[in-house]
Amino acid sequence: MEKKKFERPLITRIKAGVPDKYGMKSQIKPLTHIDNNLVADLIKEFGSPLYIISEKTIRNTYQSVLRAFTTRYPKVQMAWSYKTNYLNAVCNVYHQEGSWAEVVSGFEYQKAIANGVPGSNIIFNGPDKSDEDLTIAVENGSYIHLDHFDELHALIAITEKLKKKAKVAIRVNMDTGIYPQWDRFGFNYENGEAWSAINKIMTQPNLDLLGLHTHIGTYIMSPMPYSVATSKLAELAVKTFRKFNHYIKYIDMGGGFASKNTLKGAYLPGSDTCPSFDEYAEAISQALNNSDIQYDKMPTLILETGRALIDDAGYLLGTVLANKRLADGRRSMIIDIGINNLFTSFWYEHTIMPAQEQYTDMDDTTIYGPLCMNIDVIRSAVQFPVIEKGEHVVIPRIGAYNMTQWLQFITYRPKVVMIGMDGKPYIVRENENHETMNALDRVPEHLRKFTL
Ligand SMILES: *Cc1c(COP(=O)(O)O)cnc(C)c1O
Repeated sequence: MEKKKFERPLITRIKAGVPDKYGMKSQIKPLTHIDNNLVADLIKEFGSPLYIISEKTIRNTYQSVLRAFTTRYPKVQMAWSYKTNYLNAVCNVYHQEGSWAEVVSGFEYQKAIANGVPGSNIIFNGPDKSDEDLTIAVENGSYIHLDHFDELHALIAITEKLKKKAKVAIRVNMDTGIYPQWDRFGFNYENGEAWSAINKIMTQPNLDLLGLHTHIGTYIMSPMPYSVATSKLAELAVKTFRKFNHYIKYIDMGGGFASKNTLKGAYLPGSDTCPSFDEYAEAISQALNNSDIQYDKMPTLILETGRALIDDAGYLLGTVLANKRLADGRRSMIIDIGINNLFTSFWYEHTIMPAQEQYTDMDDTTIYGPLCMNIDVIRSAVQFPVIEKGEHVVIPRIGAYNMTQWLQFITYRPKVVMIGMDGKPYIVRENENHETMNALDRVPEHLRKFTL
């Protein structure tokens, strides 16, 4: 018989159902399977750590957002926010669902084109569009969302050179009642800058003003600001019609819906506090339907939802490297998932779950990543069962921003596997290795040799 490992005895007060200053204690349930694939099998086949994406969850979430809006407003177009997750396979699932591409750089623009998105279905946002980027976007008939007057002037010069019209919208920032107000992108509503930009564009023969855009922030935990923002854009559309007899074809409300992750310092879990898609949809649709825009000229509503669409579809799988006690006796666990793989751990208290059924009592635990860095903490104080070296953990809800903001640091970035609609795993991104990591390094001749 195998000798059992010694575990320090533990006395814990029963706290079931009683909230303390950290909120309600919640039992951690194991997560053994993802879309019917055993976590341990996935790690065995593809390595650890490992990113998993559920195609089924992506499609289901997409459909539920779309349904929430189309049941309230007739003309809705989604545009996938590339920076939230631009793995080609992920983007293509959205494009198959009918989503356009929303990009914020020349690099993302190229990715969308390479994925097969027609230029006329690309929305080009962001404060950094080079003359070269703008030229390509004009030639392809993409929607260029102007961020500032310098960009407006550059675009006018480019359209004159190309002798071609550009399809444009302006990004508008405004007071929607949320703090801090995002006023660094686009033209301000309250100080009249947005209206002034519209007036300038309307005098330009080469610019076709098709839309009004805003992206009021991210992880907006109330539907109210969307109602305010929609009304303000609708008012600009009405004003534009009254002065120029020109209809705005679309109103783009950007992204920003909260996902169910829990922000650091939040009292209650995000899954309890974040509004439903129906609540956001109600706020936006009602503001549009109540506006003075003429009934038969209602604009298309574009949504660039990122985080809330993809977060639930992503999982990060890892393995326990060691358990040890800290100086004060507290338990700590080292796993092979570092903050380089989990960039969002800077602002979320990520849920972490054991990946096997049987486990012991819960204990206050600090969970560290594998990096040789003091800040590599996945959870600083969490109730967690004792799981042994070699056993696995799963961090759910990591689909947004982690696979774009991940850092190559100390070690290679791992594989990403998508569980397809058929329940089978497909590699959608290979892991890095010595060869791929060194491919871009150059060593000048005089630094090639040394003797020690
Ligand atoms: C990042 C971004 C989005 C997506 O935002 P989420 O908060 O992830 O929904 C949409 N539009 C623009 C312009 C963005 O910069």
